[in-house]
Amino acid sequence: MSVVSLKSAPPGSSAERAGALRVGGLTPLSLSDWPGQLAAVVFCQGCPWRCGYCHNPHLIPPRAADPFGWHEVLAFLERRRGLLDAVVFSGGEPTLQSAIVRALKQVRSLGFRIGLHTAGAYPRRLAALLPAVDWVAMDIKASFADYAATTGVTDSGAPALASTRLILDSGVAYEFRTTVHPDLLPPARLPALARSLAQLGVRHYALQEFRSRGCARHELNVSVTPPFLNDATLSGAIAPLFDSFCVRRAQ
Ligand code: SF4
Repeated sequence: MSVVSLKSAPPGSSAERAGALRVGGLTPLSLSDWPGQLAAVVFCQGCPWRCGYCHNPHLIPPRAADPFGWHEVLAFLERRRGLLDAVVFSGGEPTLQSAIVRALKQVRSLGFRIGLHTAGAYPRRLAALLPAVDWVAMDIKASFADYAATTGVTDSGAPALASTRLILDSGVAYEFRTTVHPDLLPPARLPALARSLAQLGVRHYALQEFRSRGCARHELNVSVTPPFLNDATLSGAIAPLFDSFCVRRAQ
């Protein structure tokens, strides 16, 4: 995902910023962050995890060096009413901030459909958000017992599993997806991971090849050359497990 600066969106006043959603970036128009929807993407600041392949490491700190004012983001979205289908909240981890609950409702009241990208780090907040969400895309980092190898955070698989179950039980349209870098998640483990997700009830799944753009870890950028996901293995062992399945190539 790309983050495009909106030069006309300076930070609001300190009074405005208090309690407001902290935003680190805004993409005015995206056709890919919610497939089939014309969407703006709001990149929420802050993430509790430290994935080696993170494409937006500048969004990990809880406060942005050059933040967007939430009121200016809202003003921008008001000008896009009738021109966009949806707004996707991405990150960072959108559910990290309590302000996401009000922000999401504000955007919904403008008439936009609401998409949410999450890694599932905060299941209780996710549960509060899901009734106001139209589509959710959740990252599955690895098998839930092996999360720390990717996220760098002990026990991060437990909230991810809880969030997976919440999404499946909610009835909200969803996609689960796994970004694959062979140094962090060997492709040979993918069939077992896919089977475990299918057993939980996942019906829509995607694999995404690691892309070097934006990744700050030089050793990960140079250690693989896509394509590295094996078509025969994927189609034979994984695709039949799901109602919909796709592989997103790095290029
Ligand atoms: S969960 Fe997402 S935003 Fe957070 S570190 Fe991992 S890839 Fe980056």
